[in-house]
Amino acid sequence: MGHAITRGTSIRVAAFTWGSARSSAPVYPFPPDPHELRVMKLFDCQVCCHTLYFENTQCEKCGHRLGYVAEDQDLYAVVRVGDTADHHWQIAGDERRTFRFCANAQYDVCNWLTPFDQDGNFCTACRHNHTVPNLAKPGNAELWRLMEIAKHRLFYTLIELELPRVPRSEDAGQGLVFEFLEDPADGKKVMTGHDDGSITIALAEADDAEREKRRKSMHEPYRTLLGHFRHEIGHYYWDRLVRDAPALGPCRDTFGDDRTDYSAALQKHYRDGAPPNWRERYVSAYATTHPWEDFAETFAHYLHILDTLETARAFGVATHPRGIAEADRLSTEVDFAPDKATSIAPLVKAWLPLTFALNSLNRSMGMGDLYPFVLTPTIIEKLGFIHDLVHGSIGATKLDQPEMKPYAPVPENVPPPTSPNFAGAEQER
Ligand SMILES: [Zn+2]
Ligand SMILES: [Zn+2]
Ligand SMILES: [Zn+2]
Repeated sequence: MGHAITRGTSIRVAAFTWGSARSSAPVYPFPPDPHELRVMKLFDCQVCCHTLYFENTQCEKCGHRLGYVAEDQDLYAVVRVGDTADHHWQIAGDERRTFRFCANAQYDVCNWLTPFDQDGNFCTACRHNHTVPNLAKPGNAELWRLMEIAKHRLFYTLIELELPRVPRSEDAGQGLVFEFLEDPADGKKVMTGHDDGSITIALAEADDAEREKRRKSMHEPYRTLLGHFRHEIGHYYWDRLVRDAPALGPCRDTFGDDRTDYSAALQKHYRDGAPPNWRERYVSAYATTHPWEDFAETFAHYLHILDTLETARAFGVATHPRGIAEADRLSTEVDFAPDKATSIAPLVKAWLPLTFALNSLNRSMGMGDLYPFVLTPTIIEKLGFIHDLVHGSIGATKLDQPEMKPYAPVPENVPPPTSPNFAGAEQER
């Protein structure tokens, strides 16, 4: 399961100073209903009502600095209080709580707040960073920022699903840590992968041109930083939630026996490629490599689906196609909280028509499909396992529900299976 990785230059984060902060007295009904916040993906400034992105650090309209509070799952306009030597931050209009910014805010890679009285300099997402890029090298700051955007989005969902995120300080052997590593000077490539709680993401993957080159050479329809994070965290949760748990048996029933030799399976995949009929049972060609990879790929897709449905719900996205015979079947509205769904069925029911619409919109812009994958009944069953696993309800998925009827929106446009020669290509676990 392991592999050799080259350690990059570790950065020790020193004390930092704040930029200018504004303060003004907001007039806003505060606080909003916290339950409402937990299912919202859209954010707005509570001072001026301007709509915000999750990653924003300053409100473009009123100029307030913005800080994200993980326990609320919400982004707030904040004000600095106290004197220069001993200052802290409060949500504008709410003096009940005080915060610090995560130490990584000084590098403009994190906008999360931590409670002022909490130990440690880092937020709940950044406390897992073990190696970050050497910022003395030009360009690394931007690559790191892109890496953190993906990582924070991953953490949004992990927090929402209340999945365990144990730091190394609490589990020296298998606590969750991230290594963002540069390729060494000797021409070798850092391998993206997971090993006993340690997730390595090659920094080169944050470079769009390099990642696209790798995507093409690996014959993949989709390759993103966020996809890497969601795949590798899938391995972490296999270790945490399956390996030593009652879920192991049902997991093997669903994904196959993980005791088959991993290295040999990987070698076989890179030598022979995926079997010709892989699309019937696997969400990607890489998922055919080994049950661990199938699990991680399916886990990543579950998070893709959950996050995108949540965003669609927040925007009130609904599809009601006109002028086609199957209009009813392709109509959908995300009128439920995806993270609270009791089974995979409503997610799949909403997801398939939505992806047909989203793929069509992308094609209208001359771009590739937003979701270039086909979900078959077998793959939906695997997604159901992941849903039940993360909700602590293994066995809840029943495949005979009407929503689970096999349905693939645009299979005829899927490119034919390839049998690539992967010799010498990057390997992943
Ligand atoms: Zn504002
Ligand atoms: Zn942080
Ligand atoms: Zn993997």
